[in-house]
Amino acid sequence: MNRADLLARLLDSGEQPWDVLVVGGGASGLGAAVEAAARGYRTALVEGHDFAKGTSSRSTKLVHGGVRYLQRGNVALVLEALRERGRLLRNAPHLVRDLPFVVPNYDWWEAPYYGAGLKLYDLLAGRMGLKASHLLSREETLEQIPTLKPDGLRGGVVYQDAQFNDARLAATLALTLADLGGVAVNYVEAVGLLKEGELVRGVRLRDAETGTEAEVRARVVVNATGIFADGLRRMDDPASPPLLAPSQGVHLVLGRRFQPGGSAILVPHTDDGRVLFAVPWHDRVVVGTTDTPVAEPSLEPRPLPEEIEFLLHHAARYLTEDPGPADVLSCFAGLRPLVRGNRAAAKTATLSRDHTLLVSPSGLVTLAGGKWTTYRRMGEDTIDHAAMVADLDERPSPTAELRLHGWAEEEARGDWAGYGADTPAVEALAAERPEWAELLHPSLPYRPCEVVWAVRHEMARTVEDVLARRTRALLLDARASAEIAPAVAALMAAELGRDEAWERRQVEEYRALARGYWLEPKR
Ligand SMILES: Cc1cc2nc3c(=O)[nH]c(=O)nc-3n(C[C@H](O)[C@H](O)[C@H](O)COP(=O)(O)OP(=O)(O)OC[C@H]3O[C@@H](n4cnc5c(N)ncnc54)[C@H](O)[C@@H]3O)c2cc1C
Repeated sequence: MNRADLLARLLDSGEQPWDVLVVGGGASGLGAAVEAAARGYRTALVEGHDFAKGTSSRSTKLVHGGVRYLQRGNVALVLEALRERGRLLRNAPHLVRDLPFVVPNYDWWEAPYYGAGLKLYDLLAGRMGLKASHLLSREETLEQIPTLKPDGLRGGVVYQDAQFNDARLAATLALTLADLGGVAVNYVEAVGLLKEGELVRGVRLRDAETGTEAEVRARVVVNATGIFADGLRRMDDPASPPLLAPSQGVHLVLGRRFQPGGSAILVPHTDDGRVLFAVPWHDRVVVGTTDTPVAEPSLEPRPLPEEIEFLLHHAARYLTEDPGPADVLSCFAGLRPLVRGNRAAAKTATLSRDHTLLVSPSGLVTLAGGKWTTYRRMGEDTIDHAAMVADLDERPSPTAELRLHGWAEEEARGDWAGYGADTPAVEALAAERPEWAELLHPSLPYRPCEVVWAVRHEMARTVEDVLARRTRALLLDARASAEIAPAVAALMAAELGRDEAWERRQVEEYRALARGYWLEPKR
């Protein structure tokens, strides 16, 4: 994917307007664009920053039905998500894998209660089901999670769910869109809507790299800007009432010694009624999350001290070794684009996780809410509506069976970078120059060939794109990622034809960002 070529195609769509123009390159926008292109509609997508810069790179990385929604009786949502979990495992085996989750039991009633709930979870998955859940004795529970605190432990329940690499799935969807003949361009922001009479007929765009503005026409515009959706709605109608109530969720990343073994922990009920996960991921453990209402959307939300304290406190409660701030390799926050069902609802934990579609009188289609797991279903729904608005031929959705870019017979394994069928091509780069095959840092599983690959084929434009999203270095070890920023900047500058001043700026900007992801040890 060459950005200059794609940008030229975006701006010059010939005489015809685009059938569908999607604004926002996270899970929602990429899902909708792939859906539209797979149906044969002429499709373009613009992302103001990088693909998945927003919420879509900051999730718990689970492809799940959502055990907690079952607790709240939302069976339809769980059913749909479990079906999508099965489809993702089938259509992107290089990016998604199944994983056992253990619910530790400390009270007598927990084994029958969670055991029955998880049997229902198995049942709802139907023929898309993974391994059946079952009860564990105390010894079996400790075998699965050797570092679980044994005091008061009675046993556990184990069930199967799936996990993935969120930002790499986003990059894969952008590549899938290109395979289908669509166009996705990062660093192109929608700054206004074009109208014919009352109807939205295109978007005014700004190339963030050059500052150049241009107008692009489309038969329908999809607003998939996540937590920023109200901003685009106000460009359409300044009187639009707010649709979203963002809520922040924080994760800590710890070394694997805190939770060795192959299973995740699910604590179904913390003090404040939250679900807490501790999930092995890329040889680290991701602990999360929190639920803190926030007033303003932001692309770089920062964890609050009390959120960090809450997670450290709860991790210490369940794990034999108490983690402290110095053990946190990375700490990241994401904002849930929750839709306000009931404005009076004070706690965001009770707001809808389901998606919402709004078609405004101008024809602007807004998709908001939902979750990564159901991105394909949300896209299908969105394009059904968008096709009606644009008066496009009705065409059935092919995406339930659509294999994503890089699909490979073999499941993700090893450090499962997720290149799938592209793996031999990445390895060929490593063979081209011996130094491209060396690890960039002893604490990180990444090599220069992946940086070069990301620039040449995955539209990486900045050091942050490479270290935060094409690789996950920022999340796996923020300090180590800052140390390799100069090497990454040099590799990128050579590929992109940039000068030393660009390299220096990139390193400075990246280091300033990475500093927000590590914690200073308590004095
Ligand atoms: C803490 C947390 C944990 C989660 N865990 C899970 C999980 O484990 N599993 C799961 O299935 N789901 C999970 N989710 C939910 C899931 O991550 C989100 O629902 C999903 O990523 C939202 O995607 P989006 O595309 O709607 O928004 P975003 O990813 O935020 O994408 C919107 C994009 O629009 C761009 N944009 C904004 N304005 C403009 C403009 N004017 N022009 C161009 N582009 C623009 C932004 O830069 C951004 O990239 C979690 C969410 C959070 C916050």
